[in-house]
Amino acid sequence: MDDCIFCKIIKGEIPSYRLYEDEDFVAFLDIRPVNKGHCLLIPKQHYVRVTDMPDALLARELPLAKRIALAMIEATGIQDFDLLNTNGAPAGQVVFHHHMHIIPRRTGDGLTFKIDPIEYQEGEQEKLAEKVRNILK
Ligand code: AMP
Ligand code: ZN
Repeated sequence: MDDCIFCKIIKGEIPSYRLYEDEDFVAFLDIRPVNKGHCLLIPKQHYVRVTDMPDALLARELPLAKRIALAMIEATGIQDFDLLNTNGAPAGQVVFHHHMHIIPRRTGDGLTFKIDPIEYQEGEQEKLAEKVRNILK
């Protein structure tokens, strides 16, 4: 993807503080960190959503995210973190190249997910759950 900022980072056309690279993935520090150590793990192939990723590649991603998180914990001394993946603009995705955020977290760091829970109509949950169960069959 020519106009993708992360594809440009992969090709070295845009600088980044790289943490890790192999044949399929790159990890680097986020340019607007929520906390020190906030980094991104991305596949070298351009996929937009996690649902676009082949299972074989995804199977490598989580163990790698875990490895990077453990390295970041050791490097920063911050034990807690979010593993976050946005899919689509309403979900907060700004860069449309699939990425996994690894975000060190501290008490009172101000990062919150504002949650005003919605309410289901009577019987709606069962209908929805049944629909999804049937799709998953
Ligand atoms: P998201 O909102 O999930 O799409 O997150 C995109 C992330 O990419 C944000 O946290 C940005 O700060 C980060 N980002 C955008 N451009 C760059 C860049 N050139 N280098 C590093 N991180 C970037
Ligand atoms: Zn891309």
